[in-house]
Amino acid sequence: MIEKIKNIIDADDIKLDEYLKDHTSYRIGGPAEIYVYPKNKDQLVKLIKLLKGSNYQYFVIGKGSNILVSDDGFKGCIIDLTKHFSGIRVDGEIMTVGSGALLTAIAFEAIKQSLSGFEELAGIPGTIGGAVLMNAGCYGNEISDHIVSVTVIDPQNEVKELSVDNIQFAYRKTSIKNNIVVEVKLKLKFDEQARIRNKTDEHLIKRRESQPLDLPSCGSVFKRPVNNFAGKLIEDAGLKGKIIGGAKISEKHAGFIVNFSNATSKDVREVIKLVKETVNNKFNIMLEEEVIYLG
Ligand SMILES: Cc1cc2nc3c(=O)[nH]c(=O)nc-3n(C[C@H](O)[C@H](O)[C@H](O)COP(=O)(O)OP(=O)(O)OC[C@H]3O[C@@H](n4cnc5c(N)ncnc54)[C@H](O)[C@@H]3O)c2cc1C
Repeated sequence: MIEKIKNIIDADDIKLDEYLKDHTSYRIGGPAEIYVYPKNKDQLVKLIKLLKGSNYQYFVIGKGSNILVSDDGFKGCIIDLTKHFSGIRVDGEIMTVGSGALLTAIAFEAIKQSLSGFEELAGIPGTIGGAVLMNAGCYGNEISDHIVSVTVIDPQNEVKELSVDNIQFAYRKTSIKNNIVVEVKLKLKFDEQARIRNKTDEHLIKRRESQPLDLPSCGSVFKRPVNNFAGKLIEDAGLKGKIIGGAKISEKHAGFIVNFSNATSKDVREVIKLVKETVNNKFNIMLEEEVIYLG
């Protein structure tokens, strides 16, 4: 497989046995057999065609801020779009961004251009590609609120620009789950620059005060159950501060399971299992993971 990939991807954009702990916010994860940074759409389409045709497993990674990778790693090819697909172009109130662009970079460009809409999203530590796939959001603002269109490589390996009207979004869900996001067009709104800057800063401070940002994590591990909050249920179940191996339920925010001391993927999974069982036994609510397992 590697020889065939070398015919598509430049040699300096290919790594072998690359540790995924170096590519995830959890700082957890064994090696990926092959790790590549496609340079452009053409390389990406050719690569996907090769991998699918060979039945070789692959996974598109963003900033790795919502994934828990197995300690054994991933026997397949990781496709990283953060290196060559992270451009940001601005034309009036329209921003066109490569799927590997960070939400933080987009939010800071928005401030520079006096564009409002991204203030609450600035602190989400992922890429726009990952944010579209997860329909990421916070403080009442979801990424889907700002999308005009998404350019994807669809399951038939065709590059298509999909208007937002042809994509369904719901809480942490999208209908284009099986597509690869290449580029996203966003519509923001001109406003006073100082107001945008202050609002962005306020939300970044709010996050720092309420979340354990000093320790590796994937953010909230569980989705918000209907009419409830996962963090509150976990706290009410008496699980705050619970430790298994190097993983701990954060004392600052019980919805976060932090890697406080060289946690393994197994440690985190055991904490997740404990939380689900305990919350279900106490409140008859089965929490569902927001974090995505890989490997
Ligand atoms: C401290 C902290 C705080 C967080 N706060 C929030 C929050 O407030 N709100 C929120 O919603 N989330 C939050 N998260 C979770 C996470 O940041 C978001 O889900 C983010 O959108 C994931 O983006 P990513 O680039 O890191 O994606 P990854 O974790 O790399 O991948 C997530 C999923 O997206 C897919 N994917 C990534 N890029 C592409 C692409 N180009 N095309 C197709 N599929 C792709 C991956 O295959 C995977 O299925 C937080 C995480 C941390 C660590």
